Amino acid sequence: MYIFNADLHIHSPHSIAVSKKLNLDTMIKTCKKKGLNILGTGDILQPEWLKYMETHLDKDKNGAFLYKGVNFVLQTEIEDVESVHEVVLFPDFDSVREIQKKLKPHSKNILDEWGGRPRVNLSPAECVDIITDSGGIIGPAHAFTPFKAIFRQNKFKTLKECYQDAVKKVSFVELGLSANTDLADKMDCLKNVSFLSNSDAHSESPRSLGREFNKFEMENPSLDEIILALERKDGRKISLNVGLHPKLGKYYNMFCNKCRRRIIFKKAKKKSSSGLNQYSLTAEFVVNYADEPEKAKKNYINQVSKNKMVCPACKEEFGKNFKIKLGVSERIDVISDHEKPNHPAHRPPYINAIPLVDIIRSVKRIKSATSKTVLNEYEKIIKELGSEFAILTEISIDKVEDFDANIAKIVKALRNDKIQYTPGGGGTYGEIKFDL
Ligand SMILES: [Zn+2]
Ligand SMILES: [Zn+2]
Repeated sequence: MYIFNADLHIHSPHSIAVSKKLNLDTMIKTCKKKGLNILGTGDILQPEWLKYMETHLDKDKNGAFLYKGVNFVLQTEIEDVESVHEVVLFPDFDSVREIQKKLKPHSKNILDEWGGRPRVNLSPAECVDIITDSGGIIGPAHAFTPFKAIFRQNKFKTLKECYQDAVKKVSFVELGLSANTDLADKMDCLKNVSFLSNSDAHSESPRSLGREFNKFEMENPSLDEIILALERKDGRKISLNVGLHPKLGKYYNMFCNKCRRRIIFKKAKKKSSSGLNQYSLTAEFVVNYADEPEKAKKNYINQVSKNKMVCPACKEEFGKNFKIKLGVSERIDVISDHEKPNHPAHRPPYINAIPLVDIIRSVKRIKSATSKTVLNEYEKIIKELGSEFAILTEISIDKVEDFDANIAKIVKALRNDKIQYTPGGGGTYGEIKFDL
């Protein structure tokens, strides 16, 4: 068996807000720095991107696609009539064309310049049937995010509720940036399904591409082998999921759907005599103070899930009621069966990672992720020590220390899960709180 690091969900310049510089050459450059062996093509149903991939990818004897030493899996994301996003993987270009043809009567934008992630007016079950009948595999994307996801607020609570009889043909669940296996394994309905941790990258930047990936153990990088690994058959498997710490994701914490402030709870300094909730506002947060913050938060979440909680900041500012929405962590709390994660025996470990670019930013105290100083340092450490994944998870801390003692401190804390985070939410990424 061989090890393959795979990121199976990205986009192309034919989706909204994607870097114009994203192409096969920039993709593989980042793959090599990160230590990625297999990458999804992104947006393969889009006609121009399909043609571009068909022209440039070679096929090896196992049926795996290849470009200059990096393997590719034909991949797209679709949106069904329930506004649930799904990741789709295809075995070959014939299957892509066949599915494109079958979906076309149900989609207005599948052949459009900007139809990278097409909207398909079919039920989740109908999508699963069409994809799997033509040799593809499919599973819900970023399953818990507050928008466009299967388990979002007021939407489905189980896989079966969404996919009905087609649920048996769902091959995986993608966790999304704000979830990990500890969160997802609180749900009973997910215990038999394999989890994917993918980047959903909209850019070739090493901060984005491969920020989540899966370590596969299989014979070769073809889709047939990936399917065996997802089914955990013949010794094939996913042996590790690596992804952002959920608190670094954009949708971990509950938020106001209008001003996008995140709602957090802190212990009140003084006991409140009135029993009324006290809060303070910052540009990014509504901070609620309570004698028992955990308990107050639970009640609050309960109200939010009934669509009954409005944003106090917006009320002050606009005199209007705007609803608070649950983040990934609170939504899982509401629909889960277990208070603590209940990992099935087959579940691989999960590493809560931080992109190396962000570690360097935090060490150098630089805000901008595109700063020359940060990117030069990134290039330098990769050149000296090896791929980003090796630096974050494998290389001895002594070696990292020889390069930079502060970077080593954070990498060590990351490996021991000792880092504090300001949780992301409402579209804003979380941040690391680390005193050097
Ligand atoms: Zn999506
Ligand atoms: Zn608000």
